[in-house]
Amino acid sequence: MRRRLYWRKLEIPITIHAGEGGKAENIREAVFDHGAARIGHGVALERDTELLKQVRDRGTVIEICLTSNLQTCSVPSLAKHPFKKFFDEKVRMTLNTDDPAISNLTLTDEFELAAREYKLMPWQIHELLVNAANAVFAEPSVCARLAKALVQKPLSDSNSVPLSVGIRGGNVSKKR
Ligand SMILES: [Zn+2]
Repeated sequence: MRRRLYWRKLEIPITIHAGEGGKAENIREAVFDHGAARIGHGVALERDTELLKQVRDRGTVIEICLTSNLQTCSVPSLAKHPFKKFFDEKVRMTLNTDDPAISNLTLTDEFELAAREYKLMPWQIHELLVNAANAVFAEPSVCARLAKALVQKPLSDSNSVPLSVGIRGGNVSKKR
């Protein structure tokens, strides 16, 4: 308990991996008892609608790890992953590799997978990137600079075409 209060007192932001395969309750504990600003995985959040809303309204960031969740059987398939539901519920999300050395993937791979599987629009990819910039554990000015750089460089001229159309060649961004 004392250690827990210590990081809160110093205002050190933390991320906790929770709800990967276990109960939603673990997420509640991580966010509300330990004060995690970000939750790694958070898959179990879909099983508790009330908690999902509380976590969303608090602005907690969910670090989505699609490939890792498949590999650990946290979800039976990408179609059953709550990624899309979280998007619809306006949960703040980022895309992540979890453990790139073990999963042997890059962040680009993960974005390609998400774009293909969920037919993401460029604005959705953009949102994931801006969320990531704002979720960096750094001075607010650093986050703002990162987010601004992304806003100034839109991924695509057209926001109405699913990005998966442009990634067949293994390139996430559409050809200009
Ligand atoms: Zn993990």
